[in-house]
Amino acid sequence: MANWETVVVNTDLLICGGGFSACGAATEAAYWAKKKGLKVTLVDKAALDRSGAVAMGLSAINQYVGIRDGENTVEDYIRYVRSDLMGISREDLVYNIARHVDSTVHLFEKWGLKIWKDEKGKYVHEGRWQLMINGESYKVIIAEAAKNAIAAAGGEIFERVFIVDPLMDGNKCVGAVGFSTRENKFYVFKAKAVIATMGGAVHVFRPRSVGEGFGRSWYPPFNSGSSAYFTIKAGAEMTCQEVRFIPVRFKDAYGPVGAWFLLFKSRAVSATGGDYMVVRKAELENWKPYGLVKPIPANLRNYLGMLDTELGLGPLYMETDEAIKNIAAQYKEDPKAFKKKMKELESEAWEDFLDMTISQAILWAAQNLKPEEKHSEIAACEPYFIGSHSGASGAWVSGPEDLPTPYKWGYANMTTAEGLFAAGDGSGASSHKFSSGSHAEGRIAGKSAIKYIVEKGKAPNVNMDEVEKLKAKILLPLDLWEKHSKETTDPEINTNYIVPRQFLHRLQKIMDEYAGGVISGFKTSKALCERGLELMAMLKEDSAKSAARDHHELMRVWENNQRVMQAEAHVRSILFREETRWPGYYFRADKPKMDDKNWKCFVNCQYDSKTGQWKMMKKDIWTMPGV
Ligand SMILES: Cc1cc2nc3c(=O)[nH]c(=O)nc-3n(C[C@H](O)[C@H](O)[C@H](O)COP(=O)(O)OP(=O)(O)OC[C@H]3O[C@@H](n4cnc5c(N)ncnc54)[C@H](O)[C@@H]3O)c2cc1C
Repeated sequence: MANWETVVVNTDLLICGGGFSACGAATEAAYWAKKKGLKVTLVDKAALDRSGAVAMGLSAINQYVGIRDGENTVEDYIRYVRSDLMGISREDLVYNIARHVDSTVHLFEKWGLKIWKDEKGKYVHEGRWQLMINGESYKVIIAEAAKNAIAAAGGEIFERVFIVDPLMDGNKCVGAVGFSTRENKFYVFKAKAVIATMGGAVHVFRPRSVGEGFGRSWYPPFNSGSSAYFTIKAGAEMTCQEVRFIPVRFKDAYGPVGAWFLLFKSRAVSATGGDYMVVRKAELENWKPYGLVKPIPANLRNYLGMLDTELGLGPLYMETDEAIKNIAAQYKEDPKAFKKKMKELESEAWEDFLDMTISQAILWAAQNLKPEEKHSEIAACEPYFIGSHSGASGAWVSGPEDLPTPYKWGYANMTTAEGLFAAGDGSGASSHKFSSGSHAEGRIAGKSAIKYIVEKGKAPNVNMDEVEKLKAKILLPLDLWEKHSKETTDPEINTNYIVPRQFLHRLQKIMDEYAGGVISGFKTSKALCERGLELMAMLKEDSAKSAARDHHELMRVWENNQRVMQAEAHVRSILFREETRWPGYYFRADKPKMDDKNWKCFVNCQYDSKTGQWKMMKKDIWTMPGV
């Protein structure tokens, strides 16, 4: 076995991940931990300042309810999420996040985030729930608060340590193991409670950007399904694993469209089919009641565009020039004011990208594209797993203590594995939390985990023999490379191992072709899912033959294995749910209709690490009384 030092870290609370929900968890947990003399440890595979989905910055906070100004109520938010997810949401969790999210946003402002204000000092809304921000340094600001809180409570932060597996004592999570992506160090974290906040997953499906563009995707490439893998391996019940997210974004550089649709009121059209939201309106009847709700659910908006694309009526375009002209038209009587407004709109259009997706600005520049002169192509991206956004996949967590919810087994946001909590993309069926809601949910989980430790926390019982076995398994790819890489003239072609890139391409091919990726127009069926699972079983066999030439590739190997777990949970859940509920995200061609009678329920699943078997379950939907 590779000769790596084993570093044992003892802590009370372990936070795995360093993104928005982890920073929320750290800030809140450290506050309570300090009072109780407990230690909080946070582990991120990257550097906290620029890690996770918000690494590059954002131009809007997408969840703000506006309770203090009477703009909306928490109940309004529940109704919005319920409709957007076609009836499938954990309303207790959505409620809990929504009632806390405003205070989180106010903290962001206190910590230095610039939120746009109008002349009356009110926040500038991009849409009903969204606030415009100067967000290039959004993550840096939120990370700083988390770092300060942990430092003040005497905790520890580990950066560039990749978490692989949970440590279990029966059904209880007692820590995690991982490795440094820079040094020859294998880490064993022993903890009384653990929070899984390692984001969602990208590159499970083959991306549109292949070859020279490989790596480019809407979802930043850093998150590989570590939260899902961790909670699944812990034996925790998972939910909504079939609910992937496919955003429609500016094509090829994946630039955001929110400001165009919401702020600039732009239309999207297909080149020869016209305004598909108008032309295809009748299709929405087939998906009622959700199809008739305003705003129309994101998947249905996607679907109407996809119907045009399928018929060869594309490309799809965002009518940027028309939108800018419409806004500036209010100033047309005054040429000077008109010119000034046009300039202002042009700079806002570019800044929207520079705040969060710089590559889109580069692509516009490279293609000589001026948004005020010419429309710009949009397209449905490949599928992603991001339960905090418009997807819903994640762990099945306990509801808030003060609500009469049927989903309660103790501590808020604890999974069905004792002592293991989840938040953000890590927890399921509570979509539309976005950056602010993920932070708020992290705070909820952080406080709840400390409460659990205070009331039930015992010294973790970690079996070090098991840890040694895990260490050997996790470092094996380095050994395989060391042993066999000189046997062939091209070290990437070798009968004794498979390199991470080859493995990834194989997984992506299976998912693309069988599980409803881009190539199959997001369509799948029972037969396709079953064949996909057969091929995945062979891929899983080969995972034991993964080789890594260095630290970086070792991380790639384990990212791949984590993606496979997410992929399998996804395919099994699609197979189990015998209907099509989210056209525009995926379409079960053999069950093309929504079946509320049999399938208005959650699909949950649970993996047994000992037998390798999956259990699939239906769970009832609880609707918030009076909402
Ligand atoms: C392209 C895009 C645009 C978005 N736009 C907006 C927007 O405009 N407004 C808005 O409010 N929200 C937006 N969101 C949503 C927001 O970014 C997410 O809701 C939020 O980041 C989720 O928080 P999280 O903590 O679950 O995950 P993340 O913030 O992604 O954090 C995951 C963390 O886990 C770490 N990690 C991953 N794997 C491991 C591992 N194995 N070991 C250790 N650490 C690990 C990562 O390094 C990272 O620190 C957007 C998301 C995306 C992807």
